[in-house]
Amino acid sequence: MENGSSEDCCVKVAVHIRPLIADERLHSCKDCVIVVPGKPQVQLGSHSFTFDYVYGSTGSPSSAMFEECVAPLVDGLFQGYNATVLAYGQTGSGKTYTMGTGFREGYQSGIIPQVMNILFDKLKIGGIKLNSRYILKEEVRDLLDQSSVGKADAFNIPAGKTIPGKPPVQIRETSNGVITLAGSTEVDVRTQNEMASCLEQGSLNRATGSTNMNNQSSRSHAIFTITLEQIRKLAPVFNADGETIDEMNEDYLCAKLHLVDLAGSERAKRTGSDGLRFKEGLLALGNVISALGDEKKRKEGIHVPYRDSKLTRLLQDSLGGNSRTVMIACISPADINEEETLNTLKYANRAR
Ligand code: ADP
Ligand code: MG
Repeated sequence: MENGSSEDCCVKVAVHIRPLIADERLHSCKDCVIVVPGKPQVQLGSHSFTFDYVYGSTGSPSSAMFEECVAPLVDGLFQGYNATVLAYGQTGSGKTYTMGTGFREGYQSGIIPQVMNILFDKLKIGGIKLNSRYILKEEVRDLLDQSSVGKADAFNIPAGKTIPGKPPVQIRETSNGVITLAGSTEVDVRTQNEMASCLEQGSLNRATGSTNMNNQSSRSHAIFTITLEQIRKLAPVFNADGETIDEMNEDYLCAKLHLVDLAGSERAKRTGSDGLRFKEGLLALGNVISALGDEKKRKEGIHVPYRDSKLTRLLQDSLGGNSRTVMIACISPADINEEETLNTLKYANRAR
């Protein structure tokens, strides 16, 4: 995958078209999304858009999505490159299904469970050196904190509220540009099962929030972050007399992968105080990604407006620069969703 000029671009955009679901069939919805055969091109009414990849419907099979879009990012993690996978789209378009956080039937084929599979496969093989040590760290903002269960904003970035009795998680930037989250729960995991149960707990807590807070999951951005720390012990350094002069010769590499199930994109145009805040997050993200995707502007060193929202601030060190970003625009094929689908395709198109 390391060839071709498009590889120079740090942002890739894929479209994932889900099948018509039972409810849509029941309402006799028609499939209104056309995929141009053999091309990553989607037509909707008189509009036509070309992306990096198109999956589902008559595009490439969804099973190819992980290999093409996400597996290279996991490889990069081992080389120290940060990465972000974003699922964008209206509520019901398949974001949670695509990310695999729902714990419903079929979720194992989602992106996060597959990331875990290959991550731990690689760790088993042990890759680099026998005396390498790996620590896997997983950050799940406060959804791993029991006191946040059922309360607003478990790890929901934009609502701007705080959990009673708990200081808000603060986004900080170190002098070398690393973004940290002060006050968020980080769990060291050693096995795939441990990581899977973190994901499960986080997802359950998000769902618990949703019954209390009219559908929290469509209103919040859910971020699952995997941090891979590698400490490789290098050979000790000897002097000319054969005495050890540096025993603790270590090489440290740290990279993170953000897996993001974004708020429903229909929120982006809502008015009202909540709507405005969401608009900020999703619109700011669109602006950042659009700025990053624009090769010419990037070369001119344009300003990337990370600071416009908490979401983009939090993802700052994993969007742009040396990091890799994949946006997966999830869409429904049903004609009743045509307007929102068009909005999603336009948003994704801006990201290219
Ligand atoms: P969102 O998270 O965007 O609101 P969901 O992931 O919850 O959407 O998906 C909405 C519905 O569509 C769910 O019932 C889900 O099982 C179904 N669905 C989504 N994507 C697919 C797919 N690729 N194949 C089959 N069913 C899907
Ligand atoms: Mg969802």
